Amino acid sequence: MEALDGNAIAGQLMEVFGGEMTTVTGRCAGCRRTWQMAELEVHTHAPGTVGRCRDCGVVLMVLVTARGVTCVHLPGLVDLGMPTAP
Ligand SMILES: [Zn+2]
Repeated sequence: MEALDGNAIAGQLMEVFGGEMTTVTGRCAGCRRTWQMAELEVHTHAPGTVGRCRDCGVVLMVLVTARGVTCVHLPGLVDLGMPTAP
């Protein structure tokens, strides 16, 4: 299945972070490149939703929703900016 970009999960990111996240930047812990969340390589058919670095493939973000609660894991994302008001 072809990867999507971060725009595909804009609504989910807004729900979790409380504001617009697609233009927020974060840096990859693997290659140190800075990305906007809209630029991430997103896979929605993994267990949960996975956002990877387009350069080095490091998993930057995992979102898993169970029983109405979304858990966020940011294993490879550093210097994540703040969302803008909705
Ligand atoms: Zn990277």
